[in-house]
Amino acid sequence: MNLVWFRNDLRVHAHRPLQQALCADGPVSAVYFLCEKQWESHQVAPLRRWYVLHSLLELGEQLAALGVPLDVVDAATFEAVPSLLTRQVRDKEVRQIFCSREYPLNERRRDEAVASAMAELGVTISGVDDGVLVPPRALRTGKGTPYTVFGAYKRRWDAWLDTHFEAPALVDVEGVSHPTDFPGRAAVERALGRLQVSPSLTEQWRPGEQSAREQLDRFVSHQLARYQKQRDFPALSATSGLSAALSAGTLSVASCYQAAREAMADAGAREGAACWIGELAWRDFYRQIIAQFPRLSYGGAFRRETEWLQWRDDDDLFDAWCEGRTGYPLVDAAMRQLVATGWMHNRLRMVTAMFLSKHLWLDWRRGEAFFMTHLIDGDIAANNGGWQWSASSGTDAVPYFRVFNPIRQSQRFDPQGEFIARWVPELKHLDNKTIHEPWKQPLLAGEYPAPIVPHQGVREAVTEAFKNAKKMYDEQGSAQQ
Ligand SMILES: Cc1cc2nc3c(=O)[nH]c(=O)nc-3n(C[C@H](O)[C@H](O)[C@H](O)COP(=O)(O)OP(=O)(O)OC[C@H]3O[C@@H](n4cnc5c(N)ncnc54)[C@H](O)[C@@H]3O)c2cc1C
Repeated sequence: MNLVWFRNDLRVHAHRPLQQALCADGPVSAVYFLCEKQWESHQVAPLRRWYVLHSLLELGEQLAALGVPLDVVDAATFEAVPSLLTRQVRDKEVRQIFCSREYPLNERRRDEAVASAMAELGVTISGVDDGVLVPPRALRTGKGTPYTVFGAYKRRWDAWLDTHFEAPALVDVEGVSHPTDFPGRAAVERALGRLQVSPSLTEQWRPGEQSAREQLDRFVSHQLARYQKQRDFPALSATSGLSAALSAGTLSVASCYQAAREAMADAGAREGAACWIGELAWRDFYRQIIAQFPRLSYGGAFRRETEWLQWRDDDDLFDAWCEGRTGYPLVDAAMRQLVATGWMHNRLRMVTAMFLSKHLWLDWRRGEAFFMTHLIDGDIAANNGGWQWSASSGTDAVPYFRVFNPIRQSQRFDPQGEFIARWVPELKHLDNKTIHEPWKQPLLAGEYPAPIVPHQGVREAVTEAFKNAKKMYDEQGSAQQ
């Protein structure tokens, strides 16, 4: 028996481990370990769990149509996986396991424990780097070290794909218009029964591979050509909205890359497609970073000197940020979008993250955790990368003395104030100038808060704090490494 172990790769198309198993000798079955306690400790948002569980239902049916029964095993935590997998292997007389590699620390520890358990049983594990376009260790600098600067990485990344990229394989799944039963269905339904998530959130999303593939087609046909020009304007919905699918693996990144490369044949779409491919490169970049710098998986800053920053400890400021009550309209609109939809536009993730870490001077890890507990696309590599970029503690991060002005960002990227009016309706009666700075207009008392901190002086304070942290690190910190 060949066993495909599904993790964050919940699809049948463009899935190399499944393809390899189907081409190997002998029957194929599949397994998914449901680790709800692990989800808890990884702060996985209820909405994301809902997305995963519903995607599993569709996956089970698709696999059944291919003659591959999917078992869903309650494991609670990663620690339980080796022994539960051992049982599967014995019961099903498995000779070979196929899976896609994962890179965060806990996932790698789980896989190492599984590898030794399987070695004792004489079972082979074939792991492939199917969740990225370029394997994490494929590209090294001239000194043999990992790339930590995106520009240089991206040049090598493009060249590597020019010679190595292979179009992903699609499988023929016919006759699945009626639900097809699979062994793991009851376990998934039980987990859905335990899950508490508001219907106002779930009704905005469509889980599963089929919907992800349709969304990719729609995006490539109708929006990709305009992506570069429009992607920074949150009122326009000009980005793909595929991050949930890419992080749970209901869509393969190879399918995205292939579609964008094909679109480049049309001169009108070339710029947009090239720009979008650049975002897929950021995704790979942060995955290779998380794979090669394990301390990032447990809260470590990439730039060690920033561990010496003395963050403010103020729950009132944090709560105001979480609840969209900072008095800065774009920041508040973005935070309300996150809580109400489980997603936030990329420009706004940068604006809100920088606002938390620079204006409010709160530890970026608090914001990183809050994002994880709400995002449908919560992904440790991209989330940690984005947060550390914004807080100037990460790889190729924004320089610490560069602080986004939340009013300028608002005027520039939401010039008509449409996005603000959508999410902060108490400001929608204001004209497109005042809406960015509502304090200039006398408001009804209690209608909207005044700014909780001033923008003026933030750059100077941040610069001073980073310089002090560097000094302390040079004097004491580096000696302790
Ligand atoms: C503070 C912060 C936190 C973030 N947290 C996450 C997260 O938890 N999960 C997540 O998937 N992305 C995260 N991002 C990256 C980015 O904001 C989202 O991927 C993007 O907004 C998703 O929307 P989209 O699918 O429409 O993106 P598109 O613009 O259509 O991009 C296509 C795909 O490329 C990838 N991508 C795009 N931008 C980035 C980026 N900067 N880093 C890594 N991958 C990228 C995503 O998979 C995305 O779906 C974060 C960024 C910041 C600044």
